[in-house]
Amino acid sequence: MIELSLAQMAQGLRQKTFSSRELTQAFLDRISQLNPRINAFITVTAETALQQAEQADARLAQSDASPLTGLPLAHKDIFCTQGVRTTCGSRMLENFTAPYSATVVSRLEEAGMVSLGKTNLDEFAMGSSNESSWFGPTLNPWDLNAVPGGSSGGSAAAVAARLVPAATGTDTGGSIRQPAAFCGITGIKPTYGRVSRWGMIAYASSLDQGGPMARSAEDCALLLQAMAGFDPKDSTSIQRNLPQYADALHEPLQGLTLGLPKEYFGEDLSPAMAKVLEQAIQTLEKLGVRCKEVSLPLTRLAIPAYYVIAPAEASTNLSRYDGVRFGHRCDQPQDLEDLYKRSRSEGFGEEVKRRILVGTYALSEGFYDAYYRKAQQLRRLITQDFQSSLKEVDLLLAPTTPTPAFDLGSKINDPVQMYLEDIYTLGVNLAGLPALSMPAGQVAGRPVGLQLIGNHFEEARLLNVAHQFQQVTDHHLQKPSGIE
Ligand code: GLN
Repeated sequence: MIELSLAQMAQGLRQKTFSSRELTQAFLDRISQLNPRINAFITVTAETALQQAEQADARLAQSDASPLTGLPLAHKDIFCTQGVRTTCGSRMLENFTAPYSATVVSRLEEAGMVSLGKTNLDEFAMGSSNESSWFGPTLNPWDLNAVPGGSSGGSAAAVAARLVPAATGTDTGGSIRQPAAFCGITGIKPTYGRVSRWGMIAYASSLDQGGPMARSAEDCALLLQAMAGFDPKDSTSIQRNLPQYADALHEPLQGLTLGLPKEYFGEDLSPAMAKVLEQAIQTLEKLGVRCKEVSLPLTRLAIPAYYVIAPAEASTNLSRYDGVRFGHRCDQPQDLEDLYKRSRSEGFGEEVKRRILVGTYALSEGFYDAYYRKAQQLRRLITQDFQSSLKEVDLLLAPTTPTPAFDLGSKINDPVQMYLEDIYTLGVNLAGLPALSMPAGQVAGRPVGLQLIGNHFEEARLLNVAHQFQQVTDHHLQKPSGIE
């Protein structure tokens, strides 16, 4: 049962091969068995999951079900969930229970999905390895010595280990795509504004975007259909019709042109990964796609631009955790100043503090022009590069990361090395574009991610290409070897 795709599970529920309660119980059992080893979940909501499953079974019996009714999922613990604690991987919110649910959460709940719990992440989604979580690192189910990627590492590891068939994630600079790549699953970061950010705890508001993570493009399409769409509660949400993502999956690929940005295949990319990607490109060419080299000359400058803009936004977003209204409060403060200082010093971890310091520095009078304004100008130029290459070709194809999953502990004490990991994902967020990562093979037992980048609102096209690729390959069906 746990190996089925969402679409197959939905069929099993309709044909009464199993009930949602049975399905939910099977995944809960697997979580009890394996989560202590990989630490993918921060909170498991077994009791409410079983109640939701029973309600779903009742809906199914009355033929009042959506395509997602009765299917289990998990939410990255950055999405507010009414009545269930939302920690954002931080001591600051260790005991915070949100008074309302994020739009993404309520939409999936209304569709009848069953939430099994909240997944681990880098603290406030800042990181690329899941090692900055207050709740300890998540381990990669392919190899317990490797990181699962970050920040949505808990979601990616949980899906890869079959603890849940699908999960939500968020992507500010790669946090859906990079862990999807490291854990051998499929994930899509939608166009900025496609999925509501309401109730998603803010890291860098002009970059943050939620999206689905699952084993196949087909499953991501099903989830995105329910997650996406206009939300009046989010001022940057876009009012624009949603295509039928599932229908688009079946389009033939003949006549499509894919651009290969030469800067993404340069010296930063591991040669073993380049080989795997080359084979995937040949497979796509057999499906009728034409490939052509393009250039994104400012690729390397995405790192400094992002690591000024994201911390600047984070420093203002995180000023709300002051120990007064919600979140961690220190014991016996002497005065207001002491309350702020000690609550924030105790509540935030190292990486979050580093970003607040960098961000406030970049925004301070005297440095604003030198750093923040420059970074914004670069952001505009990087966006223009993407726009001009996407005039020449339909989509871009690139690696998701320069290397497969790295070893636990190998980069956590070197922030610059960690930031360099994001070289192929950050530009997409700066430009607000949609991008998908899917498995394309392995190097030394660790999965390799292939990234597809599209023009604004071209999610259907990305899912289409990924689905066609997955129809003729089996990389997305491989099971992680580290836990069985
Ligand atoms: N690794 C990047 C960062 O640390 C991206 C994280 C994300 O997308 N949330 O900011």
